[in-house]
Amino acid sequence: MLGTTKVFEDIRVPDIDDRKYRMLTLANGLDVLLVSDAETDRSSAAMDVNVGYLYDPDDAPGLAHFLEHLLFLGTEKYPRENEYSQFLSDVGGGYSNAFTAGENTNYYFEVSSNCLEGALDRFSQFFTCPLFDESCTDRELNAVHSEHTKNLQEDDWRIQQLEQDLSKEGHVYRKFGTGNLDTLKNIPESKGLKTREMCIEFYQTYYSSNIMKLCILGKESLDQLQMWAESMFSGIVNKNIIPRKFHDHPLGANELGKLIRVKPVKDTQMLTLSFPWPDTTNIYKKSPNKYICHLIGHESEGSILSLLKHQGLASDLSCFPSHGASGFDFFKVQVFLSDKGLEQWESVVLVIFQYIQMLKETDALDWVYEENSIMSTLAFKYQEKSDVSSYCSGLAASMHDYDKADVLCGAYLMDDFDATLIKSMIDLLRADSCRIMLVAPSAIKSEEPKVALWYGTEYQVEPFPTSLVDSLSTLVCNADLTIPQVNPFIPHKFYIEPSESIVHEHPRIIKDTPTTRLWHLLDTKYKVPRTSVTLFIKSPVAYASPRFAVLTHLYCDLVTDALNQQSYLAEMADLYFGLDVTVEGIILSIGGYSDKLGVFMATVVQAMTSLVVIPERFKFVKEELSRHYTNFESENPDQHASYFVTWMLQEKLNRSYIPVDIVNFYPTLLNPVHIEAFVHGTFDKAASLDLLAMVEDTLGKSSSLRPVPVYARYNTVRTHMLPFQSSLTYRRLLPNAENLNNAVEVYIQFGESNRDNVAKALLLNQIISEPCFDILRTKEQLGYVAWCGPRFATGVCGFLVHVQSEKHPVFVEGRILSFLENARGIIATLSDDEFQRHCTTLCSKIMQKHKYLMASTEYYWEKISNGSYDFTRREQNAETVMTLTQADMLQFYDSFVAINSSSRSKLSVQIWSSQGIKSAENVITSDLKNICSSDEKSGEDMMDVDTVLTDDGSVAEMRNQWLLGRSGYPMADIRTFYSF
Ligand SMILES: [Zn+2]
Repeated sequence: MLGTTKVFEDIRVPDIDDRKYRMLTLANGLDVLLVSDAETDRSSAAMDVNVGYLYDPDDAPGLAHFLEHLLFLGTEKYPRENEYSQFLSDVGGGYSNAFTAGENTNYYFEVSSNCLEGALDRFSQFFTCPLFDESCTDRELNAVHSEHTKNLQEDDWRIQQLEQDLSKEGHVYRKFGTGNLDTLKNIPESKGLKTREMCIEFYQTYYSSNIMKLCILGKESLDQLQMWAESMFSGIVNKNIIPRKFHDHPLGANELGKLIRVKPVKDTQMLTLSFPWPDTTNIYKKSPNKYICHLIGHESEGSILSLLKHQGLASDLSCFPSHGASGFDFFKVQVFLSDKGLEQWESVVLVIFQYIQMLKETDALDWVYEENSIMSTLAFKYQEKSDVSSYCSGLAASMHDYDKADVLCGAYLMDDFDATLIKSMIDLLRADSCRIMLVAPSAIKSEEPKVALWYGTEYQVEPFPTSLVDSLSTLVCNADLTIPQVNPFIPHKFYIEPSESIVHEHPRIIKDTPTTRLWHLLDTKYKVPRTSVTLFIKSPVAYASPRFAVLTHLYCDLVTDALNQQSYLAEMADLYFGLDVTVEGIILSIGGYSDKLGVFMATVVQAMTSLVVIPERFKFVKEELSRHYTNFESENPDQHASYFVTWMLQEKLNRSYIPVDIVNFYPTLLNPVHIEAFVHGTFDKAASLDLLAMVEDTLGKSSSLRPVPVYARYNTVRTHMLPFQSSLTYRRLLPNAENLNNAVEVYIQFGESNRDNVAKALLLNQIISEPCFDILRTKEQLGYVAWCGPRFATGVCGFLVHVQSEKHPVFVEGRILSFLENARGIIATLSDDEFQRHCTTLCSKIMQKHKYLMASTEYYWEKISNGSYDFTRREQNAETVMTLTQADMLQFYDSFVAINSSSRSKLSVQIWSSQGIKSAENVITSDLKNICSSDEKSGEDMMDVDTVLTDDGSVAEMRNQWLLGRSGYPMADIRTFYSF
C-alpha cells in the first residue's frame, strides 16, 4: 500500500526561486506536490478535493460546504473537537482555513516550520477517519447558518446567486452552495433525512484519493517530505471517482437576449454583459482570454471606458472570463455607471458592441499579444515568495488544471499566439448570445418585482428593448474607438547587482531639510528589479475642518481620475499608484519595476500640480464620493462596530459629508508641506535623491516649496485615553433595516504602548484567541464572525473581542464579558510547559521573515509613518515576551481585564439591528437558560455597572473631554539615522 508509483521533478520554476520541487503520485492515485524551502520559518499544506456544492444532493443544498465545516471537528486519532485548531494555534502559532466552491473544496493550514509533522498528521486524519461527532453536527449547523445570514445583505452574494438562479431550468448551476438551517436541517428532517448521515454518505461517496491534490511546503528535504506524504496520506481510499463534466451551458435560448433588472442593497449602479464562453482550461498555454480582455478592458485613449467617461456615462469597466464549471465559462464585461449612464444604459451597451465589432473586423495583433506576454513572463520570472498557506492552497488547486511541468507557471503562460483561435473566440461575442444585468436602486420598473429564493433579492426579467435590438442589428464601427497605443511603461532593463559597497540592514536618512526627509534602503535580499517609493505629504490643511477633509478627498479622487489613462498603462506594466488621504495629509505611493518608475512618478506629480477641474468629471467624482459615504450605511454591523470603536478613540476623525467647491484649494494643500519619503528597492542613493529633487521641483514650481511649522511635521494623530474605571457602552441602530445581524465590539484599554504593555497584549492574545473562537463561535454559536485581538493605535494599546450575531446584543456582550472573566482561569491553569510554549510560539510568529520586498517595505513604512523609526520593534517585542512569567500575566489581567479592578477601562460598541432585535427578543430568554449555567452571568447582570450612551452628540462631547495619549516620537535621536 505504501509508496510512490511516479516521481516528476522537471517543473518550471521562477528564476529567483531557491526552493526545490518534486511531484509524486502515491500508490492510491493521490498526486502530491512537495516544496522544500530550507530557509522557511513557516510551513504549510493544502488539500484540494475535486468535489464541491455542484455535487450537493437536491435534498440538501449546502451539504458539501457543511461537510467542509465538520471535517475539522475531531477524528478517530484526535477526537477532541478543537484539537487541530488548538495544536495549530498553541504549538504552531498558525491557523487553518477552508473554502467550498462549485467543484472544489480546499483545506489548508500554516504553522511554524518546526511543527509541520504534528500538524500534517492531524490534517491527514480528516481524509481517513473523521468522527462527524453528533453534538458538533448540531452546533456547527448554526455556524453555517450564521455564515449565510452574514452574506444576506452583501450584494456580491446576492447577485452571484441570482445569476445562478436564472440559469436554464433544471441546470446544476442553479444550486445554492452555502446552505442554511432550512436547507440543511429543517427541510431534510421533515422528509425523514438526517443531516449527519447525508454528510457521511457524501464523504464516503466523493472523498477519494484519485480526485485529491495535496501540496506540502516545509523546511525539510524533499526525501523527508516524501516519507511523510507516503506514511500519512497513503491510507486515503481510492474510489476511482470520475469528476463530472458539464457540457450543457446554463445560458440557453430562453436566458439569452434578456435584461435582468436588480435592486441592490448598496447604492451601486452597474451594468453587466454575460456571454456563454467555452471552458479554456485545456488551452491555457495560448491564453486567448488575456488578449481579448486586455483590449476590451483597456482604459487608455480610444478604449471603451475612455469614450464612456468622455461622454459622462461610466466610471469604471472591467472585463474577465468568469469560471462556471468544467465544461462552461462566462465572458463578462462590467461597467460602473454614472447617473447619466444609468439613464442611457443602452448607449453604453452600444459602445461595447461597436468596439467588439471593430475587433471582429481587425486581425488579431501579435504586438499586443507580445506586450502581454512580456509582462506575464516577467511576473513569473521574478515571482517572489508569498504567504505559504495561500501559496499551497493555490498550488493544490492548480494541480487539477495544468500539466505537471507547468504547475507553477500555468497561470502565467502566454507563449503561443494563435490568431485564428483569438478571432474565433471574439466571434462568440454576439448580441444574440448575451444576457444583460442592470443593477441600481432604481433599476426595477415593475410594481411587483420577483423575489429571489435564497437572498430575497428583488428583480425583474424582460426581453431586450426593441430600440436596443434595432441599434445592435445595424452595428458600424465608431471612429472614436481604436486599438491602444504602444505602452511606454513596459520595462526593458532588469536586475543588476547593486554597486554600492555599504549595505544597511535598516533604512537610513540620506537627506533631511525643513521640507523633506528622505529614507533610503537599497535592497540586497529579494533580488527583484523593483522599487517602491512612498511620500507622506504632511499638510496642516488636509483635515483642518470637515470641509477641508472633504476637499482633500475630492482633490485626490480628481487627480486619480485625471491620471486614469496613464496609470492604467502603468498598471499594465506592473507599476502601481495610490493617493490616499489621512488625517495628517496625503500619501502618494508608487512601486513596481524600477526601469520606468521615475518616468511614471514624474507623470503623477505633474498631474498633481496641474490639475484642471473639468466640470463634468468633478460632478462625477463628487457623485462617487457621496455614494461612498452613503454606502457605509449598508455595510454589515461588524464593520460599524469596528468603525465606531475607532471613532471613539481617534482624535479629529469626522464623519460628516459636506458638499464643496474645490477651486483654488489644492495649491494650499501642497505648499507649505513636509514630505517624509521612503525609497526601497533597487534605486541607489543617487537615483533616490534625483527622484526626490524632481518631486520637490514640481511641487514647488510656482514658488519654491515652503516648510510647515515644526509641530505639524511630527504631530501624528493621537488616541483618546479612556478614564480609569470607565465602563461604557455605546449603542447605535444599524441604518440598514433589512439586516438581521447585530454586532458587539468590546475594547479594553491597557494604556501607553510601551514595550511591556505591548508584549503582554500580544501574549494575552496568543493564550486566549483560540479559546475565544472555540467558546464564542464553536461552543456557544454566537455567530460566524467571532474573534479577538490586540489593538494598537498611536501611543496606546488595548485588546478587543468582536462578535457579529443574530442574538441580542446585550446577551452577546454578556457572553463576551463572561468569556473575558473566565480568561483568568485559562491563564492560571496553564502548566509551566504550556506557558513557555505559548511564549516561544508567539516569538516565532513575531519574528516571521518578510516573504517579499513589499512586505518588508510595509514593515518599515509603518515605523516611518508613525514617527517612531523603531525598526527593531520585532526583536524587542520578542525579547520582552521571553521575559514574561505567568505571574506577570495574571497581574496584568487583574489590573486591566478583571471587572472589579480600579484600573480597568472598558468601552463597547453595540450595533443593534431593528430586524435582528425583533427576532432576538424571542430567543434571548431560552438562550440564557441554555448557555448560562448557574455560576455564569447573563448580559444584563454583567452590564449593571455600565454607562449606556445612545446619543451621538453627547458621545462626541464626552470623547472630547478625554485625555489624549502620546503622539508618535522617535525611538532614537534622529541624527543617528543619518547617512549623508
Ligand atoms: Zn463556511
